[in-house]
Amino acid sequence: MSWSTSGGPGRITGGGAVVARAPAKVNVHLSIAPLRPDGYHDLQTVFLAVSLFDTVTVRPAEGLSLTVSGEGTTAEPGVDRVPTDRRNLVWRAAVLLAEQSGVKARAAIDIAKAIPAAAGLAGGSADAAAALVALDALWNTGATRGELAGLAAQLGSDVPFSLLGGVALGSGRGERLSPVLARRQTHWVLGIAREGLSTPSVYAELDRLRATGRLPDGTELPSPQPVIAALSNGPPSALAEALTNDLEAPAIALRPELRRALTAATDAGALNAFLSGSGPTVAALAEDEDTAVRLAATLAGEGVFRTVRVVHGPVPGARLVG
Ligand code: ATP
Repeated sequence: MSWSTSGGPGRITGGGAVVARAPAKVNVHLSIAPLRPDGYHDLQTVFLAVSLFDTVTVRPAEGLSLTVSGEGTTAEPGVDRVPTDRRNLVWRAAVLLAEQSGVKARAAIDIAKAIPAAAGLAGGSADAAAALVALDALWNTGATRGELAGLAAQLGSDVPFSLLGGVALGSGRGERLSPVLARRQTHWVLGIAREGLSTPSVYAELDRLRATGRLPDGTELPSPQPVIAALSNGPPSALAEALTNDLEAPAIALRPELRRALTAATDAGALNAFLSGSGPTVAALAEDEDTAVRLAATLAGEGVFRTVRVVHGPVPGARLVG
């Protein structure tokens, strides 16, 4: 398939740069079915896009190049490094979009990261979604949002949600999305750990704990409806009660100090605290924005986390800025 390149002009700013940003996500419901013979897990999840954004800037260039700044690029020991070559999901996004639209993959791409890597916040997926949107405008590919979503699903199971944003029910491996109407803003403190956790290792630990009977086998998945109802119309306390994450127990098994971090968040006044996706980020739900700011100050003072961020959601998915 190749798209016509005769669509409307891209939104190109001074110096020919196009800028897009995309949000981090929290899975407010995450239930995981047993391992499939092909090595994957089906899952049911409710994604919530939150106000922590990576920014991707693309400029015309002779070839393809990538620079990364911000979170994940410091020399701080233990902080995960983000790759700057073809292992980066943004590189793959650029190559895929160029192939599909019949253009040469020519761009100088810069990723400014605010979303920590390997934190269960889908930072790499956010970057890929922002890159699709920015490069689509730079190259004037004429791709529809649906066509970009198709490419997003080829890049990774969280990328379609990073493109869509808001709140969505995800099934399959998370790439099949149904948008959910959420009338309320929710306020969170994200407690970010010093070292990331690899998502495949957390899934492997889940399988191990299930095989040894230390966790239920996952054949009966809990319904996401309580979380959806709470996000649609309920008070924050209803959402706090409904939060679920099947990856929390295996992540804690791999990183036992996470239990102390979760307790620190609820002791400091969170309505509830759980791990975001495969962790190790702690997502602490607050009653309102003021409470979230106070909670963040307390947790920052206790030094349990490398850093804390106050965020809210839902927010839109990948968008051009400027
Ligand atoms: P998940 O989507 O499973 O929740 P995550 O949020 O825990 O993933 P990411 O930040 O997406 O994790 O990074 C996972 C790994 O992907 C990193 O350790 C890194 O090696 C690789 N990676 C590739 N591209 C990127 C990128 N643009 N930003 C961050 N990590 C990337």
